[in-house]
Amino acid sequence: MSQRVIFLGTGTSHGVPMIACGCHVCSSINPRNNRSRASIVIQNGEQALLVDTTPELRMQAIKHGITRVDAVAFTHAHADHIFGLDDVRRFNEIQDMEIPCFGHRQTLKVISEAFRYIFVPTQTGGGKPRLSLELAADPFEAAGMTVTPIPVFHGRVRVLGYRIGDFAYITDVSRIPPEAFDLIKGIDTLVLGVLRHTPHPTHFNLEQGLALLEALKPRRAFITHISHEFDHDATNAILPPGVELAYDGMVLEIRS
Ligand SMILES: [Zn+2]
Ligand SMILES: [Zn+2]
Ligand SMILES: [Zn+2]
Repeated sequence: MSQRVIFLGTGTSHGVPMIACGCHVCSSINPRNNRSRASIVIQNGEQALLVDTTPELRMQAIKHGITRVDAVAFTHAHADHIFGLDDVRRFNEIQDMEIPCFGHRQTLKVISEAFRYIFVPTQTGGGKPRLSLELAADPFEAAGMTVTPIPVFHGRVRVLGYRIGDFAYITDVSRIPPEAFDLIKGIDTLVLGVLRHTPHPTHFNLEQGLALLEALKPRRAFITHISHEFDHDATNAILPPGVELAYDGMVLEIRS
């Protein structure tokens, strides 16, 4: 069965352009240098799995024509990955159903604290999401697909990547432990978070990301969670064959 991946956002936590930056990428007129916070949606026929709920979720859903979300999978609970969660209530209304939200234990704990109002009784009339928090035990079923969590490290923070069939999405990562490597070795399509050229304590830089891709040898790889250090066209021109920068609105066909 084939699925469709839509990149809703491909930017780092600041987004690109970044507030008050006049660099050539932040001031570029190339729409591919305009990056909202990192998120994808995986459409499986009529159903859809959203990965992370960025602060720009509402605008991302409108811009890319997202009309349905059956489940959400969280990579981790940093602000740029969770603070659009309230917008999910629109999908509750459309679908008239509770929406399961998957993540590891710590992610679910932070979400339940940061969005306390969602999980305690409040007065009627103030619309809020109807969600269930579900442990991303491996593998789990969401939006009609079998999803395998991939445990990786983002500095010291534990983060989940997700694999569906021959596709995997791993953002915000600085180390892939051996058990995760085994889960993605030889995969067809890999989306990988690579921040910039200069080293960073909690993200792969380009050199580290390319070294990992060389070891994994996916047929094709797409880079996401991109900072303003990467001009879209200039960076693509120096990447090896089969590796390219993703961009907001990019669509991939995958097979599960
Ligand atoms: Zn992030
Ligand atoms: Zn800039
Ligand atoms: Zn993060």
